[in-house]
Amino acid sequence: MPENCPVCGFRYEVELGFYWGAMYMSYGLSVVVVFLVGVSLYFLANDPPTWVYLTAVAASVILLTPFLFRYARVLMLYFFGSVSFNPKYKKP
Ligand SMILES: [Zn+2]
Repeated sequence: MPENCPVCGFRYEVELGFYWGAMYMSYGLSVVVVFLVGVSLYFLANDPPTWVYLTAVAASVILLTPFLFRYARVLMLYFFGSVSFNPKYKKP
């Protein structure tokens, strides 16, 4: 993660250890992924054996780790870092 925003120069690390809270955001997002994959398998694959659930859930969480990592930090910044989107800096 870069130290500053390349567009507006915003310093991402609002305070020391700020992103510890992002672990909880990431956990919450992972729970959503697990729930969605589980429910999808139950209804779309007609309740497959347990090993299918475990493999699919583990694979999807591992594959989505970069996404979850990034968006957990984005949510942390928006909820607790007192930042908001400014259309002035929107890339065309
Ligand atoms: Zn910026």
